[in-house]
Amino acid sequence: MKYTSFDLIQKAIAEGTSVVEIVNYFLSKIEEHKDLNAFLEVFKSSALEQAQKIDEKIKNKTAGRLAGMVIGIKDNLAYKNHKVSASSKILDGFESIYTATAIQRLLDEDAIIIGRLNCDEFAMGSSNENSAYGNVLNPINKDYVPGGSSGGSAVAVAAGLCTASLGSDTGGSIRQPASFTGIVGYKPTYGTISRYGLLAYASSFDQIGPFATNVKDVALLTDVMSGKDDFDSTVAQIENHNISIIPIKKPLKIAYIKDSLENEGLDVEIKSKIEKFIDNLKSEGHIVEPVEFSYLNQMVPTYYVLTTAEASSNLARYTGVHYGRLAKNVVGVEDTYKKSRSEGFGTEVKRRIMLGTFVLSHGYYDAYYTKAQKVRRIIQNATNDILKSYDAILLPTTPSTAFKINGVKDPISMYLQDIFTVQANLAGNPAISLPIGQHSNGLPFGVQLIGKHFEESTLLSISDYLLNK
Ligand code: GLN
Repeated sequence: MKYTSFDLIQKAIAEGTSVVEIVNYFLSKIEEHKDLNAFLEVFKSSALEQAQKIDEKIKNKTAGRLAGMVIGIKDNLAYKNHKVSASSKILDGFESIYTATAIQRLLDEDAIIIGRLNCDEFAMGSSNENSAYGNVLNPINKDYVPGGSSGGSAVAVAAGLCTASLGSDTGGSIRQPASFTGIVGYKPTYGTISRYGLLAYASSFDQIGPFATNVKDVALLTDVMSGKDDFDSTVAQIENHNISIIPIKKPLKIAYIKDSLENEGLDVEIKSKIEKFIDNLKSEGHIVEPVEFSYLNQMVPTYYVLTTAEASSNLARYTGVHYGRLAKNVVGVEDTYKKSRSEGFGTEVKRRIMLGTFVLSHGYYDAYYTKAQKVRRIIQNATNDILKSYDAILLPTTPSTAFKINGVKDPISMYLQDIFTVQANLAGNPAISLPIGQHSNGLPFGVQLIGKHFEESTLLSISDYLLNK
């Protein structure tokens, strides 16, 4: 594998390699690994066109901070004049008429967008098996899922088909596939990166973030993409932000949630590897202590009440009339909506729209939606209370390593895959998955760190230290 970090790209460019050559290398790798089904579309002509322009800029010494960085984007991010489908049939044929703020900022710094990546339909899932365009295969063992919902984004980086990629994380969709494929996946604090141009799933949870092989690239990309945006009022109004790897204060003070390590669903080998990781940190002089957090069992239900409620509202716009696919032989408004939605949405998306509509319905609203909002606040407060005394919270990213394709059949078991990742989305905190080990089954897995609100540099610097020490 070549050009697996931005450092290596910059080195190659300094030694005379052109950006066009780098793009051509990745185009051939994508072709070679077509069977993984990571890319839904390769933007060959726009990527090569962009590469030529950047080569000129490099000659003239006017190139931006990301000159030569080749990035794949999850298929729920808008890029003008390019298709976007959220891996759903309902957006079949739809082309973006504008570019997401996050993508625009990458382009402005001379990154190259090489294609759009397969994912679970509307980012709903943990295995990429909910895509209307087929499964994505885990490159480490092709019988296994890559995780989801940003499965294509994780695989593209893990298999060396691009240097970095973007995903979105509503309940773990960046961290979980990063863990399943052995790379770094980062969900910034809610409100760090504009969601303008991200096809909404659950707007109070959704956050765009990067995948890469190392933390330095993750920090660089987050820095470029973040910052206030007139098109998204939920972005924090932080002037002159600077997200980078900084020297860390040692000893680190890290909390780990006792209940998560003692959770019966946690694979024993992952548990013991994380315990060893903790013991190592302690022997190096860091303070790592168990803390109580008694809401582990409330987390997944709260998450699924609130996100399905938001999804049922967000997905109401897909009627077949405004965008994408219109059903054939329809008569009148009701028939048009019904047939277009019935044919266009997949089973999991339909399940969630129905669940969400139910929890928001008259008579049930208070019992489910309002109650879940209250639990969310309790989880937020409890998380922030821990972080008042610690630099970060350490926990597993996933209960197990990647599972076999078709290995998890019922929806509830699939939802429980998210048990360790949804806390950061419920609370809004930044969280990262770092590849720390290989299981005896040959598959990788990650450890997760949750940081303080808007202290991206601290969390990333601790992560960089932990990964490289
Ligand atoms: N697996 C979770 C879900 O299905 C997370 C998805 C995500 O983060 N987009 O909702």
